[in-house]
Amino acid sequence: MLKIQEYRPESFIDFTQADNVAAYQAALKKVRAELVGKHYPLIIDGVRVDTAEKLESINPCDTSEIVGSTAKATVDDAQKALDGAWKAFESWKKWTPDARARILLKASALLKARRLEACALMSIEVGKNYAEADVEVAEAIDFLEYYARTAMKYSGFGAADTTWYEGEENGLMFMPIGVGVSISPWNFPCAIYLGMLAAPIVAGNCVIAKPAEDSGLIAGFVTDIMLEAGLPAGVLQFLPGVGEEVGEYLTTHAKTRFITFTGSRGVGLHINEVAAKVQPTQKWIKKVILELGGKDGMIVDETADIETAVTAAVQGAFGFNGQKCSAMSRLIVVDSVYEEVVGQFVERAGKLRVGTGEDNANVTAVVNEESFEKIGKYIGIGKGEAKLLLGGETPGEHGGKRGYYVQPTIFGDVPADARIAQEEIFGPVISVIRARDWDHALDIANTTEYGLTGGVCSRDRARLEQARHEFEAGNLYFNRKITGAIVGVQPFGGYNMSGTDSKAGGPDYLANFMQLKTVTERW
Ligand code: NDP
Repeated sequence: MLKIQEYRPESFIDFTQADNVAAYQAALKKVRAELVGKHYPLIIDGVRVDTAEKLESINPCDTSEIVGSTAKATVDDAQKALDGAWKAFESWKKWTPDARARILLKASALLKARRLEACALMSIEVGKNYAEADVEVAEAIDFLEYYARTAMKYSGFGAADTTWYEGEENGLMFMPIGVGVSISPWNFPCAIYLGMLAAPIVAGNCVIAKPAEDSGLIAGFVTDIMLEAGLPAGVLQFLPGVGEEVGEYLTTHAKTRFITFTGSRGVGLHINEVAAKVQPTQKWIKKVILELGGKDGMIVDETADIETAVTAAVQGAFGFNGQKCSAMSRLIVVDSVYEEVVGQFVERAGKLRVGTGEDNANVTAVVNEESFEKIGKYIGIGKGEAKLLLGGETPGEHGGKRGYYVQPTIFGDVPADARIAQEEIFGPVISVIRARDWDHALDIANTTEYGLTGGVCSRDRARLEQARHEFEAGNLYFNRKITGAIVGVQPFGGYNMSGTDSKAGGPDYLANFMQLKTVTERW
């Protein structure tokens, strides 16, 4: 067994302290000198393999800058990765859970030592400001620490309870299931990428990790940390490539045992469909774990503390430019306090500073051209559907540099069934919806097909209890922002079209990557 202290989440760095800001800026310099411009090849069976074509990562805050590149895997590479991973599985599955967990703990120690470098790299590669990057790296460390410990509970024969029966020994054991593919998004390119591969690996499986195209460098950085921590060759295959090519090849492949995917609803549902189709020679029903989008609402009623509600709304809406599956994109306000809440919300949001992640702006550029175009299109739709209260422009430049800049944008009196109130925009564009009263507000909150996060700002105990049961959201928050789930504290995952509710960072997450065997011996 591991001899370690209980799990405690990492604390966050306080960037109101000048020395912490100075340390961050020093890390930016170091990353610019040592990591920017770097190329990460594929890693197959522990060997770095380069490809004829490569994928370039662009700085969203200054699109003239290529941050670095990764190799671009072909389907041949994907096949080699799959074959090699199955070979590695034969020995990896026999490692004890504590031996596997030690690798995660070592990786955690390495990442802690390079915490600010990981943060700085994300500031440059995806435009995170200091606090957003820091909470993400803290989350990545937490995943490693938490999954290392939870692996212990699945260890050995009899790990889950069964009832005693005369004359027999009966017991359950958890077994790893094989080789899976982990496909991750760009918006939490360190924490989600790492969490989604560390969990199946510590459970005894081998993983082919396909990061998002926009964030290959940070994925390469943390992959190196996992290998430096001692993962045997082939247990983790690093396979940057194009989703529609290698992603599609692997999710449909007969030898893929499980798929863990975080990304958009459209791609997730497509994967669910193709994975369900049994291929010739396929021996199993693939396990599919999906974490998809959201259209997350927060209700403010007439009993709420307005200051608390407005702070929660600004933080939940505009943190990382609204590019979070958990972001508050619908603010639902009861009529009697609508003017007051919305007035303060618009005023506070209007003070947010737009700029680069490296300059620690509140709102930075959105990740890529496709997002920029999509958000611009929704702002246009919003202008026809509702009243523009703030922003509404997509300048596409800041401080003389081209970048995917979108103004923080708020629409008021948005009809609950408007497209901007129903479809995931994934940017700094908020719909404020007026509700007649509390019951109407709760109805509106439940009108979307998603069910990821939600929130209520209220001092009415009966309403909070009603929402506890009736608000359809996998993660529900009262009287605070609706983003920022902490590993082990707020296990994360959504209902309905937001996913399979598999609760990353929760006590049973590793069971998604295991199968149970019951063994009986009659004496
Ligand atoms: P996408 O769905 O566009 O991409 C996610 C990943 O899927 C990428 O690695 C992408 O590769 C890959 N991919 C694309 N097409 C295929 C395919 N046919 N087969 C296999 N893989 C494929 O999402 P984004 O990266 O744009 O991320 C944003 C989305 O993620 C939002 O909808 C957000 O809500 C959701 N999300 C959900 C979370 C949750 O916990 N519920 C958390 C974070 C984000 P490539 O990069 O090459 O296109």
